[in-house]
Amino acid sequence: MVLENYRKVRGEIDDVCLKYGRKPEDVLLLPVSKTKPVEMIRELYDAGVRDFGENYVQELRSKHEELPKDIRWHMIGHLQRNKVKYIAPFVHLIHSVDTVELAATIDKEAAKCGRTIPILIEVNAGGEESKFGLTVADTPAFLGEIRSFKNIEIRGFMTSAPYVEDPETIRFVFRDLYKLSLDTTLKNNNNDLGNILSMGMSNDYHVAIEEGATIVRIGTDIFGARDYSH
Ligand SMILES: *Cc1c(COP(=O)(O)O)cnc(C)c1O
Repeated sequence: MVLENYRKVRGEIDDVCLKYGRKPEDVLLLPVSKTKPVEMIRELYDAGVRDFGENYVQELRSKHEELPKDIRWHMIGHLQRNKVKYIAPFVHLIHSVDTVELAATIDKEAAKCGRTIPILIEVNAGGEESKFGLTVADTPAFLGEIRSFKNIEIRGFMTSAPYVEDPETIRFVFRDLYKLSLDTTLKNNNNDLGNILSMGMSNDYHVAIEEGATIVRIGTDIFGARDYSH
């Protein structure tokens, strides 16, 4: 069932890409497996899927321990500084960096592990008050402040749009993030890195891809609705 859902979403992504002149291989479908059992992840793993997104450090850690070590784990949820050390040795990409202090902690923990950790800057492009993330206006100065950290690699931007009935009404959120990424060169350790744009969830990924997403984070449409009641 999960694999069927994955293939259906992948097919829709490919269709949108072809329609809008984008290459399907330029859009990564990231299954978001938070709150879901490892058996569901294994079903996708056995079909060749290697990238998975999680929101909670404890859960990410225990799933990493239980599952094959070649899975590329993406941390997409809000991250507390005191928990960075638990994921620093293995995390593939942290999508949710929005303070200098958090970037500094990731840099320090990465150095301890003798590695560089790729990160995305979380931008609250929709300007929602309840959301984490920098404003678009604050982002260039923020990049300037964290650029000198040697053990993080700034790879691009992430945003979560507000949930709305009609995703057309939030197209501007994705468009603003795309514009920001065009206006920003992410030079880091003298490497000019390609910009990643992590945007689009089950409800709005079609629009996000039309506006330039390179990673879409899909939970519900692959794994079904989440149950937080127990
Ligand atoms: C849960 C979550 C997702 C997946 O959301 P769905 O609507 O279930 O596809 C994507 N991104 C973030 C940051 C999330 O927390």
